[in-house]
Amino acid sequence: MRKEDIRPILELQDIDNEIERIKRRLRKIEEESAQIEEELRSLRGELEELRNEEESLKRKRKELRERIEEEEELLRRTEDKMSMVRKDIEYKTLLKEKSKHEDNILKLSYELDEIEEKIEGLTKKIEERAPRIEKKIKELEEELRDLFDEKKLADEKLKNLLEERNVKEKSVDESLLRFYEEAKKHYDSYVVVPIEEGVCTGCGMKVPDVLFSKMLREDSIERCPNCGRYIYYRL
Ligand SMILES: [Zn+2]
Repeated sequence: MRKEDIRPILELQDIDNEIERIKRRLRKIEEESAQIEEELRSLRGELEELRNEEESLKRKRKELRERIEEEEELLRRTEDKMSMVRKDIEYKTLLKEKSKHEDNILKLSYELDEIEEKIEGLTKKIEERAPRIEKKIKELEEELRDLFDEKKLADEKLKNLLEERNVKEKSVDESLLRFYEEAKKHYDSYVVVPIEEGVCTGCGMKVPDVLFSKMLREDSIERCPNCGRYIYYRL
């Protein structure tokens, strides 16, 4: 490679690396967003489950209260009848009926107590859990919005870089461009690298003294004997 070919290749390489960096970040943003959405689903589900349970208990409570009222009404009617009957046999039947309603009221009242206790426990749990869950949900929603904003910026930047690359590509000699594209596959992101403190920055190996002296003397572009990348000392 000639010295004058280096600069356009380096510029292209910089654009490509930036494009790769943004693409990696976009993939990461997608992963992070999916994770947050999953977490949000689970938190919202937890909250909904608690509230559904509370609602269902309250429905049961209402139902029980209504049944108790019905039984109480039946009991009152039975007692009214008892005050009016004359025959012993009728009175006994009504007495049985009265005792049946009293039993029912007692049984339903126990059930109601149990439900009340459950509601109390659950309400306490919700009072304790819900604000924490809601706070977490808010935080996650904010994170998600930030990621979305970041994605929008990154998309825009990527679009601009791809356009910039298209333009830059045209300024690079065609055979050199082919070489660069091919070499990129072998050397991941860096095909042309500088020597820093006598070391190839592509692979980290020391450049042999003889080669380094030649580069200083002739101001030439060489290939690293270790990794094969193009190395330059100064531009
Ligand atoms: Zn090297």
